[in-house]
Amino acid sequence: MVVTKKCDMFSEHSKIYLQAGLSSSGRWNRNFQRAVYFKKGEGAYIHDMDDNKLIDMSLSHGASLLGHNNKAVNDAIAQALEMGILCSYETEYQTMLAEEICSIIPSAEVCRFACSGTEAVMHAIRLARAVSGKSIVLKFEGHYHGLCDYVQYSWSPKADLMGSYENPESVELSTGIPAALRDLIKIIPFNNPDILKKTIEDMKDSIAAVILEPINYNQGCIVPEKGFLNLLRELTSKNDILLIFDEVLSAFRTGPDCAQGYYGVTPDISVIGKSLGGGTPITAIAGKRNILEHFQPTGSCTHTGTYNGHLISTMAALATINEVKKLYFYDHIYTLADKFYSGLDEIFSASRLNIKAQGLGARFGFYFDVQKDVVKEYRDRIGENEKMALKFYQLLYEKGIYFHGLHNGFSIKHSLHDIEQVLDCIEKTVKELEFIF
Ligand code: PLP
Repeated sequence: MVVTKKCDMFSEHSKIYLQAGLSSSGRWNRNFQRAVYFKKGEGAYIHDMDDNKLIDMSLSHGASLLGHNNKAVNDAIAQALEMGILCSYETEYQTMLAEEICSIIPSAEVCRFACSGTEAVMHAIRLARAVSGKSIVLKFEGHYHGLCDYVQYSWSPKADLMGSYENPESVELSTGIPAALRDLIKIIPFNNPDILKKTIEDMKDSIAAVILEPINYNQGCIVPEKGFLNLLRELTSKNDILLIFDEVLSAFRTGPDCAQGYYGVTPDISVIGKSLGGGTPITAIAGKRNILEHFQPTGSCTHTGTYNGHLISTMAALATINEVKKLYFYDHIYTLADKFYSGLDEIFSASRLNIKAQGLGARFGFYFDVQKDVVKEYRDRIGENEKMALKFYQLLYEKGIYFHGLHNGFSIKHSLHDIEQVLDCIEKTVKELEFIF
């Protein structure tokens, strides 16, 4: 049994000064009903304030694909420090990073940088509106695109608010979003070609862009059905609609060419995030030259920011790309993925409980008591057993495995032995759950 006394006490202290003891609401840990406070990370491991050493299966909400305290990233950051940090100045390194991105990501002819996924999505959408002269954004239910008001809709709408399957309501993720913005978003279910075709046919003159997670990792791991992305590409091209792949979470999970390379479908604009910076804040907006030319000064669409392409993150991103380009990188990722996903299938199919896992590349999701054999869109998860999920993550923490619950994955620093250990702990946990549920 792990002790978490220091974390408990620190949480009470933290709340006095830091609102709810959190710098970011997403760090709220539902198992503990507080944040977990950490001391350090090393490779695949993370140490909490009580000195529990945990195998990290969350990895900075997906940002640490290279693991924690990665030497290549640290050395790159040291170089930025030596150069005097040089914040808000162009150096040769932003260009080098853009060149690397353009050489490995199919949609990238040119790129610009931002600091977070939220910002990059905001810029991508403004750009799509500037290019198309249209306003509405078509978005899929259950897909998450950060906290920009334009797209803060229907990521996880409650069942009584979400409306009909064919014509879902646009449900705000937050209070404080002006009601007028609802007219600028259209929500449809993922993986339904007929609804997609009909919506585009009906609204093509007002849709500026379709945005999606090409792999919907924000719902665990929901993959596009065969041909769905191709259809999307065909319909958007035919109707002067820009196709935006939000690869904030999917970038580098399946290969250096991201989900677009994996599925062989090239969007007009890509948003590349999370793991790009090796744990430092940087995102890229990439796309065709004739689209990005609409950004000032060549065009009239704004894109600027003091910290865009910050040297520390730029250097860290260069180191990251250098790593993901190495031959062994995806051999190792897929070796771990094969071992882990087949091991999970074995454990769950031997249990009388209805738990499933879906995974692709370096990220995956668990589904507790869902009725469908395969989760293909957000509504397949409605009615999931939240209590079972929470207990699962809590029992695993007690065994030294850290899942935050929302973002699940592994890094290049996880070994086969780590994965075997996680599987062993999951098997024990499932047996314990069988006594409770
Ligand atoms: N888009 C996707 C697909 C994401 O998963 C996230 C964050 O999880 C975002 C956008 C927002 O990114 P950030 O948290 O860096 O603002």
